[in-house]
Amino acid sequence: MRLVFLGPPGAGKGTQAKLLSKEHGIPHLSTGDVLREAMAKGTPTGLRAKEFVDKGYLVPDEVVDALVRERLERARDRFLLDGYPRNESQADELDRMLRQLKTSLTSVVYIHVADETLVKRVSGRRSCPKCGEVFHLETKPPRQRDACDACGSKGLVQRPDDRAEVVRERLTVYHKNTAPLVERYKAKGLLRWVDGDRPIDAVARDVSKAAKQDGGAPGA
Ligand code: AMP
Repeated sequence: MRLVFLGPPGAGKGTQAKLLSKEHGIPHLSTGDVLREAMAKGTPTGLRAKEFVDKGYLVPDEVVDALVRERLERARDRFLLDGYPRNESQADELDRMLRQLKTSLTSVVYIHVADETLVKRVSGRRSCPKCGEVFHLETKPPRQRDACDACGSKGLVQRPDDRAEVVRERLTVYHKNTAPLVERYKAKGLLRWVDGDRPIDAVARDVSKAAKQDGGAPGA
């Protein structure tokens, strides 16, 4: 499987990508996770990315393209890209990388959720600063208040870019830059549309089915 996960912020791409990656043992590459890790470590890439991420803007293409190129060269035949590409120029760059690696995408899983739902969803999101596990105050609360189910650390946090005003900016950026990719991949017959406005396990079942449909067949 060589997949791209597409969808607005808060659609559940990260959650679903992690589940699928576990189910099939496929490397999960989330550009958002890689950038957050670089920011936490204060690397030059992290410092450069921070001014964009904190405002809800896209990080310059050359920064994320380089991160993805390095990891794709290692993953090669099995990968799950989450949060990349996010605009036409990144999608062109991804096509170039795949051509050079003599491979191609098997499908693009598009998780759709209406805008009204997204701001509410994202602002309730909390994560563990230690291991990165993601929770939601209403739909996926931790078993013990404010503690991580996965590693037991105390003190779940809200990502700075999950504050309501930044989420609105991220949605604007999504509609302007990323949403056009839906048509691009539909035209290539790669798009698999999944309704993301349902419980996590119901979405996961459809994502799993969608991921197994190899490219070629027309998308929804
Ligand atoms: P995410 O965790 O995918 O929602 O990404 C969080 C933030 O990281 C985004 O709002 C962007 O600022 C940045 N980011 C992640 N992926 C990309 C990308 N492919 N291109 C540009 N910026 C990105």
